[in-house]
Amino acid sequence: MANKWDERKKAKEDEYFVKQERELLAKLKVKQEGEAKVSAQKACYMKCPKCGEPLKERKFQKILIDQCTACNGIWLDAGEMEQVAGRDNESWLARFWMKNG
Ligand SMILES: [Zn+2]
Repeated sequence: MANKWDERKKAKEDEYFVKQERELLAKLKVKQEGEAKVSAQKACYMKCPKCGEPLKERKFQKILIDQCTACNGIWLDAGEMEQVAGRDNESWLARFWMKNG
């Protein structure tokens, strides 16, 4: 009698865990699909304005910049130029900026 009850209880527990696991997996799948979509969208609009090749993010002085994989042109988002130049007034970039700007 007791064994039967235990078995039933065990079966119920298994059922519960299977259900939980399934829900977790479903959530994970949705999350992964969402992330893949976001990165695909990003990859799609991150194109070199000059030659149309995809841009690749790279770090320059702790700032993320986008560099073309083909012509090595660098694309800066709004404010990133100031961030790069403003980091050090004596930097080549700041001097270049003041001379030409
Ligand atoms: Zn390019």
